[in-house]
Amino acid sequence: MEMRPETIEALPTVLADIKAKSPFYAQRFADIEVTDVTTQAAFERLPFTTKDDLRDAYPLGLAAVPNEDIVRIHSSSGTTGTPVIIPYTARDVHDWAVMFARCYEMAGITKHDRIHITPGYGLWTAGIGFQLGAELLGAMAIPMGPGNTDKQLQMMIDLGSTVIGATSSYALLLAETIAEKGIGEKIKLRKGVIGSERWGERMRNRIANELGVELHDIYGLTEIYGPGIGINCEASSAMHLWDDYCYFEIIDPTTGAVVPDGESGELVITTLRKEGAPLVRYRTHDLTRFVPEPCPCGSPFPRIETLIGRSDDMVKVKGINLFPAHIEEGLAATAGASSEYQVMIDHLNGKDIMTVFFETDAPEAARHQVERELQGIIKAKLSLSIVPKAVGIGDLPRSEKKTQRIFDNRY
Ligand SMILES: [Zn+2]
Repeated sequence: MEMRPETIEALPTVLADIKAKSPFYAQRFADIEVTDVTTQAAFERLPFTTKDDLRDAYPLGLAAVPNEDIVRIHSSSGTTGTPVIIPYTARDVHDWAVMFARCYEMAGITKHDRIHITPGYGLWTAGIGFQLGAELLGAMAIPMGPGNTDKQLQMMIDLGSTVIGATSSYALLLAETIAEKGIGEKIKLRKGVIGSERWGERMRNRIANELGVELHDIYGLTEIYGPGIGINCEASSAMHLWDDYCYFEIIDPTTGAVVPDGESGELVITTLRKEGAPLVRYRTHDLTRFVPEPCPCGSPFPRIETLIGRSDDMVKVKGINLFPAHIEEGLAATAGASSEYQVMIDHLNGKDIMTVFFETDAPEAARHQVERELQGIIKAKLSLSIVPKAVGIGDLPRSEKKTQRIFDNRY
């Protein structure tokens, strides 16, 4: 994507400032004259920053301000190894709130709304991001946090919550519980703001229908403020990104080269205003593409497609690159299959075996047929033989955080 002229103009100053204040970047850019970075092409030659760099800097090696200017820290939910700690200054916290409030506005949410916040509070950035944005917007924040679904629903009814903030898997759990209890009539929700992760069309439709809401994907990651750096508007499913706060690139995850606009690749983010822990060319591992066409809503903010997956979610099975999205598309095409699934990959007797557990509302006697259908669809799409295992609705675990879909047990 073409860099805004004001971003190009600001680059030398932004980079020089980062190099002067961040010991991490002083070292990383030791041999680079950052004041010479005056073009997009020169910027695209700068080295990437990776999650490993952030882990190595644990606990506060990324800080670019003195201790007394740090007002808060957050930590990313590392599934493996050392966590990453991100320090925030007062201005960083304010900027994040401004971006999050802008997200709510983009989704058609106003100060008249009552925002029921179910993501976790604490080291995780999600809950508090939803909270800050709601308060700045002037809406009523209902800071529930996760869990205790019965109490959630009671509060939702009593307070007349109009907006739900949630992960997709928790939104699904709530939707299913509401349907089960037959209390849909009492729920006043009109919008769902769902933390962006890869989720299939079928799951999206179930949540939207059962909760009776219009869904918005909100994008963000702890390393770069948290959720709230982009969201889809009411006119399209692609997410607008706040490119006045961050600069976004999409690269080929293997070669590192910037791909032509519209092609899929890994999203790379540079913070333009962040003080606590500025990041230059941070590799998110989120796979998506720019949507180059102007949005029907008229907003000039650039857009990315709903996430295709994560480059580290990719597993190689029998020489084929497999993404969760592939399984989701297979399930969407299979009559009787629901949205929830888990994939187990094992190595037995010298062969990779891929077992796909998926939920179905088909009766026991009809499940074999659904299994055969999914097997045929995956075989046709990916040339992969799978072992399909149909289970009942609700038999697979629901998570309050992100749901792990693929378990690679081979190593
Ligand atoms: Zn739009």
